[in-house]
Amino acid sequence: MDKKPIVLSGIRATGHLHLGNYYGALRNFVDMQNDYDCRYFIADYHSLTTQPDPSLLNGNVRSILAEYIAAGMDPEKCMVYVQSDVPETCEFFTLLNMHAYLGELEKTVAFKDKARKQPNNVNAGLLTYPVLMAADILQHKANFVPVGKDQLQHLEMARNFAVRFNHFYKTDFMVEPRAYEAKGEPIKIPGLDGSGKMGKSEGNCIYINDDDKTVIKKFKKAVTDMTPTEPNSEMNEPVKNLFYFLKLVSAPEVYDQFLASWNDCSIRYGDLKMQIAEDVLKVTRPIRERYEEIYADTEYLNKVRRMGAEKVREVVGKNVEEMRQIMGIKMF
Ligand code: AMP
Repeated sequence: MDKKPIVLSGIRATGHLHLGNYYGALRNFVDMQNDYDCRYFIADYHSLTTQPDPSLLNGNVRSILAEYIAAGMDPEKCMVYVQSDVPETCEFFTLLNMHAYLGELEKTVAFKDKARKQPNNVNAGLLTYPVLMAADILQHKANFVPVGKDQLQHLEMARNFAVRFNHFYKTDFMVEPRAYEAKGEPIKIPGLDGSGKMGKSEGNCIYINDDDKTVIKKFKKAVTDMTPTEPNSEMNEPVKNLFYFLKLVSAPEVYDQFLASWNDCSIRYGDLKMQIAEDVLKVTRPIRERYEEIYADTEYLNKVRRMGAEKVREVVGKNVEEMRQIMGIKMF
């Protein structure tokens, strides 16, 4: 039997998962687990770059693990693990850092953005964030990485590190990872505040375990604009964002209906928002219902964690050993 391509992806442990995480990443994780050799992790080291309260971090890891499983991820089919349960990652990261240059790290959009937002805490972890992300991916020799549009620059850096390493040591050890876009276009879930993406640091999230009332309330508050007065007018950004959502979550004929009502100026934003909220809830409600029970089951969650770490340490341990040898770290 042919070896299945390896897929690697993760989500930072900074709180509950939101619709951006779901549509940009988690949905693909679940879709891919039958056809690929999938390894999915929870990035707790990465979340330390913003120095979270230690008493919250562990709960965040737990809730994401429960959300992964509630969304349909099957720990028997794929390797599900917590980043810090695989210390081999730290060694891979250290070795890779020797081929990552200050200039390229300082130039990344995410670093510049974070440095602006937290000027009193521009720590080395923020700067080397893309190297740790590259180590996560490259240590698995992953072929595909399902990520949202916001992470494409970091993935490009992982590819550069891989090529550079292979060139420097005249080896084919590193595998160049490629972005995986299940539905063609990379997804960018917008915020409902009129511009930008949905994200935890933007404070504009709809979480997959928000209850029905909260989801409806958040959609009702979404920024729109005046109703159009001219047929076939150009949409402004907040309205475009709502139509983007509608296309993603609703049936094509529903989308066409609303588009027609925009074009003939009969659109009612209240109906549009309710439609999106209802269709989002069809996806998130069953996940939320399964979540509580999984979250409460400490024994099961610890078992999943241990099983994932054991499997990953075995495969990754071999790759780290190979990397050490290539770089000249070996017994006499
Ligand atoms: P993060 O929460 O930043 O660790 O992101 C985890 C995953 O969710 C990554 O694959 C991101 O690309 C994806 N993601 C986060 N926010 C969004 C968004 N607004 N739209 C699409 N994907 C997103």
